[in-house]
Amino acid sequence: MTAVPTIPGPVIHELKTLLGDDGFLTATTDREAYAWDNTGYRALPDAIALATSEEQICAILHLCHNHRVSVTPRGAGTGNVGGALAVQGGLVLSTQRMKHILEFSPADRYVIVEPGVVNHDLQKHLESSGLFWPPDPSSARACTVGGNIAMCAAGPGAVRWGVTRDWVLGLNAVLMDGTLIHTGGRTTKGVVGFDMTRLLTGSEGTLAVVSRAILKLAPRPEKRLLSRIAFPSVELAAAAVSTLLAARQPPSALEFLDGSALDLLRRETTLAIPKEARAMLLLEVAGGLHGLDAQIQEMINTILRFKPLEWTPPVDGSDAASVWQARSALSPILKKLAPKRINEDVVVPVSRLPALMAGLENISKDAGIPIINFGHAGNGNIHVNLLVDPQNEKIMSQVGGVLDRVFRLVLDLDGSLSGEHGVGTQKRDYIAWELDENCLSLQKQIKQVFDPLGLLNPGKIWPSS
Ligand SMILES: Cc1cc2nc3c(=O)[nH]c(=O)nc-3n(C[C@H](O)[C@H](O)[C@H](O)COP(=O)(O)OP(=O)(O)OC[C@H]3O[C@@H](n4cnc5c(N)ncnc54)[C@H](O)[C@@H]3O)c2cc1C
Repeated sequence: MTAVPTIPGPVIHELKTLLGDDGFLTATTDREAYAWDNTGYRALPDAIALATSEEQICAILHLCHNHRVSVTPRGAGTGNVGGALAVQGGLVLSTQRMKHILEFSPADRYVIVEPGVVNHDLQKHLESSGLFWPPDPSSARACTVGGNIAMCAAGPGAVRWGVTRDWVLGLNAVLMDGTLIHTGGRTTKGVVGFDMTRLLTGSEGTLAVVSRAILKLAPRPEKRLLSRIAFPSVELAAAAVSTLLAARQPPSALEFLDGSALDLLRRETTLAIPKEARAMLLLEVAGGLHGLDAQIQEMINTILRFKPLEWTPPVDGSDAASVWQARSALSPILKKLAPKRINEDVVVPVSRLPALMAGLENISKDAGIPIINFGHAGNGNIHVNLLVDPQNEKIMSQVGGVLDRVFRLVLDLDGSLSGEHGVGTQKRDYIAWELDENCLSLQKQIKQVFDPLGLLNPGKIWPSS
């Protein structure tokens, strides 16, 4: 069955001619496949355009603009906040088929790619050169560079290398009316005009569609060493994190698991976790072949001042992969146990982590809702997982109030509502809690300049009223 109610006939005809039957999808099964992202919410688009070139993106947007058809850009659809969902119907414009690596200059340390290149494939491509692109979201095997740029994605390595916006030199991007713009360039310095690259990075596909990206590269560490450290309390672990980060050399990852996360791992896995442990850190250093052992030992010595229950000797390679298991096992377990869990990714200054954890524990106790916390302690970015049973009306009626309390707590601690997942549809009702009225108004005006008719990715980021 085919149904495209909101897209006028002439647009359908032109899109079919431009993209062919293989590149323009209207069958219900195809539309269903593009109706989801990692939120679990569903929004059925009217049709899907699978662009294979920048010229096609320009033509699609120009056509949709002229006929007032809304367009939702999409990469791999792994987003956590509904950004790739066509919540007002219209066209989904997928850049997933644009997978070419166009230019690679090791001497200038950049690579130019199309937006549909999968993060992991890019890293594989760069491997033999001794360079890498630092953004490392856990979804790297599936998510696209275009999605990473739109969401300013990040992962455990952010404590050392920063986030996506730190690794984008320039962009080609197409405005809703089909105009192609070029931002930034191939150089690591450049101060001519406003920094449009940074404005577009993290704009969640609401200002323009990224059609090409110049990515800055870093030397790939030759070796990584990892140690697992168990603590009797969250307070001690958090204090160790603050002290470590005040030191000269940052770790390459500093991940955190709280007591309830450890309880879950004890119950659901065979991982050996000390009985008394109520918090755990995964400490990784990365660099050249020499000197790393001394570096991690120095960090462990610092941590020993905080009386950990146990620390494992630093390991690398496959041994390190088994230590990472503690962290990577958590999301799948949570998904299995509580498919409707609510996963927030709040962030606070690192020194406020103890207060955040104490506050979350109080909120959990008051509401009778288990909250499991883990995440990127080195950035103060914690994944707060509310385990709720959607069949339990009493609990579900409390969820809004609990989230209000979580977000209020985070803002009172000078934090931010999202460290990496973004706003999308999921946090738009809260954005005014964080941004002041003047800043919010300016952002809306910027959106207006880029997309006066509000056709590009409508229903995202800004509150409806
Ligand atoms: C298992 C799992 C683990 C994850 N771990 C992390 C993590 O560690 N860190 C993290 O930051 N995120 C994480 N995420 C979230 C998600 O993977 C990232 O936000 C990722 O960057 C999205 O990329 P995507 O290609 O899937 O984009 P999509 O989900 O398709 O789209 C995301 C947003 O980007 C926009 N967009 C996509 N392509 C373009 C384009 N070419 N031009 C303009 N806008 C575009 C869309 O409109 C949408 O708003 C995780 C998700 C999953 C499922």
